[in-house]
Amino acid sequence: MIVSISAPVSAAMRERIRQTLEAAGAVPCFVDRLRDVREAPVVHFGDVTIDFVYAHPSLRWIQTTSAGVDRLTLADRPFPREILLTNASGVFGVAGGEHILAMMLHFARGFSFYLANQRRGEWVRDISHARLLKGQTLVLLGLGDLGREVARRARAFDMRVIGVKRTPGEVEGVDRVVTSDRLDDVLPLADHLAITLPLTKETHHLLNARRLGLLPRGAYVYNIGRGAVIDQAALVDALMSGHVAGAGLDVFEEEPLPADSPLWRMENVLITPHIGADTPWDFDAAAEIFLDNFARYTRGETLRNVVDPSLGY
Ligand code: NDP
Repeated sequence: MIVSISAPVSAAMRERIRQTLEAAGAVPCFVDRLRDVREAPVVHFGDVTIDFVYAHPSLRWIQTTSAGVDRLTLADRPFPREILLTNASGVFGVAGGEHILAMMLHFARGFSFYLANQRRGEWVRDISHARLLKGQTLVLLGLGDLGREVARRARAFDMRVIGVKRTPGEVEGVDRVVTSDRLDDVLPLADHLAITLPLTKETHHLLNARRLGLLPRGAYVYNIGRGAVIDQAALVDALMSGHVAGAGLDVFEEEPLPADSPLWRMENVLITPHIGADTPWDFDAAAEIFLDNFARYTRGETLRNVVDPSLGY
């Protein structure tokens, strides 16, 4: 069995993968680029394109290094049913949780205002910008790995957390959980709205102009899920009108964010370049999931993190 590996893991992890695969009788084939895969792999570890999937009909299982798989599940061709798809959800939650909290604290403690004064060398003791997260309501869209880690941290700051997910069920550390059909009921309660959703047919432009309008005037919006979950043009309008007071955005409808996007020049917008849940250790952490799944695969067991391509996550 040929296993192709494009994930840029550390040298130590590469050696561990090689030894584990060879001990199981598999043939590891490490490549720097997908187009260097020339054999007929049965398994691939690394992020792939739909063209790669169709170019290698020998494939039976793909383990990605990302949690989001929308490039495969929302591609112009359907993801083949006979291929198992597993993602790396579980790797990114802690970083994502810290990232959203950092962004919320930035706005709550008025850092935009104080940083602007710092750059001008001005000591302005205006305390009206120095507010609290304590007692504020966070509406959190998505309660998976990312969402739960955001919720835990928000609760540690004494925020009230209302979570929205697709399927019903309580989630530890979340004060109230509602399903997505109740989204419109909870948006008016949000002082802060954080998105940790995958991009699927259902979540595309879930946050449209109408729903942004349901937020209380002065709410803050954060997105570390996928850019197209928000109608970006509608968000720009809401930021310009002041209806949305500020936004912390890590993901965008088009990436890299084009140079002429008005978002770059808005003082009430924080932009990070799709690193909002990353650390330098991501690929090795994803490799741990791959190795665990590889052991399961060779034993014929159910894999972890199986994606349902029809749901998109
Ligand atoms: P999970 O699969 O663990 O969680 C997904 C959550 O989204 C679940 O709670 C699920 O609900 C919910 N959900 C899915 N569809 C809907 C819907 N239509 N309405 C409401 N809720 C819905 O994923 P992760 O938390 O690991 O990652 C989430 C996404 O974040 C990824 O798909 C990826 O796109 C993005 N991401 C971004 C990163 C970055 O660097 N910015 C890094 C990692 C991930 P339910 O619980 O009911 O199934």
